[in-house]
Amino acid sequence: MIDLNLSSLKNLLITKLRNKNTSRAKFRYTSMQLAGLLALEAESIIETKKINVETPITTTTGLQIKKNIILIPILRSGLALLPAFIKQFPDCAVGVVGMKRDEKTAIAHLYYKNIPAISNTDQVIILDPMIATGGSGTDTIKIVTEMGIDQKQIIFVGIIAAPEGIKVMKQAYPDIKIIVAITDEGLTSNKFITPGLGDFGDRFFGTE
Ligand code: URA
Repeated sequence: MIDLNLSSLKNLLITKLRNKNTSRAKFRYTSMQLAGLLALEAESIIETKKINVETPITTTTGLQIKKNIILIPILRSGLALLPAFIKQFPDCAVGVVGMKRDEKTAIAHLYYKNIPAISNTDQVIILDPMIATGGSGTDTIKIVTEMGIDQKQIIFVGIIAAPEGIKVMKQAYPDIKIIVAITDEGLTSNKFITPGLGDFGDRFFGTE
């Protein structure tokens, strides 16, 4: 049997996203393919419980996800990951956080928030394709933990991260889990990830 080489699959897709000549249609399609892999990876690390299951033949044991899933895409780029995660977790609830990055300071400002009640019986999955400075991610985790969930119950999912962003988020919240397709070299002077893929939202939503 051959094991799935997830990192090679992710790299193939990221290479298409990085290419500045990739069309909008191909960028969208590839982002959604990659989101599907990330959703699988997220499900593989979520806490499960043993259950009995009756097959048409007999009773056996199996696994079931233990917690309620709450997806929180950070607007707007996080929306690109949402359909694949809803497909993976069809019973999930969805909350939304709107963060706008100031182009000059690269500091994110909260402009919208609509999150369902959260408790420690839930598993939160925050979605944002690009972890650059880690500012909007850290702010979103703060909002969610203040609503009553332990940071251990939070998975942050992105496509590309800068090491600086991961460090900022992990320093503030050491117990969160982070899933990214790749960690890049760093940030440019205007806080874009390098080599990166440019502005994810502009390329995905067609606002270049
Ligand atoms: N957001 C993006 O879309 N791209 C970056 O490189 C950094 C933040």
